[in-house]
Amino acid sequence: MAITRNIKCPKCGIFNTDKEYCEHCNTLISHQKKIAIKTIAVKQEEIDKVIHKRENPNLAEKLKKHPNIFYKIIGWVLYSAIAIVSIIGAGLAWFIAMVAAG
Ligand SMILES: [Zn+2]
Repeated sequence: MAITRNIKCPKCGIFNTDKEYCEHCNTLISHQKKIAIKTIAVKQEEIDKVIHKRENPNLAEKLKKHPNIFYKIIGWVLYSAIAIVSIIGAGLAWFIAMVAAG
């Protein structure tokens, strides 16, 4: 770091030069470090979400992979139903947009 920065500790009021943590009470005082930690936390959260989604597929996905053919068919029907509903939904949204546009 080229620039020396004096950061006042918000907890005990002691000035620290180029420190991430207060020399006196060990409080995190570096703003950049705070952002870095927050960024890591956010990234971790995103990763956790993806892992959760992968480990917990929705019911249709689960049934599609079911060893029993009967459940498999239900899974596919459900999957198709969801797909159709989303297509209808998109079509309806388009229709409403067209009507609203006159
Ligand atoms: Zn301190």
